[in-house]
Amino acid sequence: MATASIVSAVTRRQISLLEGKVALITGGASGIGECIAKLFSKHGAKVAIADIQDEQGHSVVNSIGPSNSTFFHCDVTNEDHIKNAVDKVVSNYGKLDIMFNNAGTFDHPKPRIIDNEKSDFERVMSINVTGVFLGMKHAARVMVPTRRGTIISTASLSSGLGGAATHAYTCSKHAIVGLTRNLAVELGQFGIRVNCLSPYALATPLAKGFLGLDDEALEQAMNYMANLKGTTLKVDDVANAALFLASDEAKYVSGQNLFIDGGFGIVNSAIK
Ligand code: NAD
Repeated sequence: MATASIVSAVTRRQISLLEGKVALITGGASGIGECIAKLFSKHGAKVAIADIQDEQGHSVVNSIGPSNSTFFHCDVTNEDHIKNAVDKVVSNYGKLDIMFNNAGTFDHPKPRIIDNEKSDFERVMSINVTGVFLGMKHAARVMVPTRRGTIISTASLSSGLGGAATHAYTCSKHAIVGLTRNLAVELGQFGIRVNCLSPYALATPLAKGFLGLDDEALEQAMNYMANLKGTTLKVDDVANAALFLASDEAKYVSGQNLFIDGGFGIVNSAIK
């Protein structure tokens, strides 16, 4: 009897880690963000998706169910867009518990610095860094008065390594870690946690775009590069780590950059 009630308590806990929470996810129309949106909703959260891809965003909302989800057209480089998305979440759902700054770009990588124009560099920085800064700023604006909330951003393996990506991308992902650490210090006094996630390479549209490979070749490349043999990182693995950071299970975790790379970064920094 005791065992049965423990099992049922655990099951109940597992299916509702975000019961009653409200999340805003930028870049939620595709890839990692889409998977996070669906998982957060499964765990009881109301989920708002902010993205520039309207059709895909609406389709994610339809698959979650419009009573638990909303789409906002939002370009994260535009402060008015971010501000409006945050304000609409608060007016629709009464609060914002989880801000997920996930939108990002690899753009058109040119590995040699000499081939990069200033505008190439600035474009990546504006989406990957300014976009995260704006998401953090407007989340803090509504979270601080309520003295609750958590802010999570998607960085990358490139936040901890050189040479894994192009200059602008690597620089932008290192910058997210800096923003995360600074804001964790500033907002800790209000009980607000700030963290970021750093996944290894995944077969999302972003990765397909820059590697120019089909699904099978991409899977082979990922397996070849992986440290944990026989496993390839999937978006669900990233979403599960995101779920942990977003939930009260991580209530004393702040200022961290959580690598989801099967140890790849450790192996590579040890070699260098
Ligand atoms: P994706 O292309 O599937 O998703 C990115 C989403 O961001 C898209 O829906 C896109 O429309 C949106 N977006 C792009 N620019 C935007 C803007 N200005 N405003 C609002 N939305 C915008 O790619 P993904 O792999 O799921 O990428 C999500 C995040 O994960 C990115 O920050 C990326 O850098 C990071 N990441 C990806 C990988 C990988 O290998 N795929 C690895 C580590 C980190």
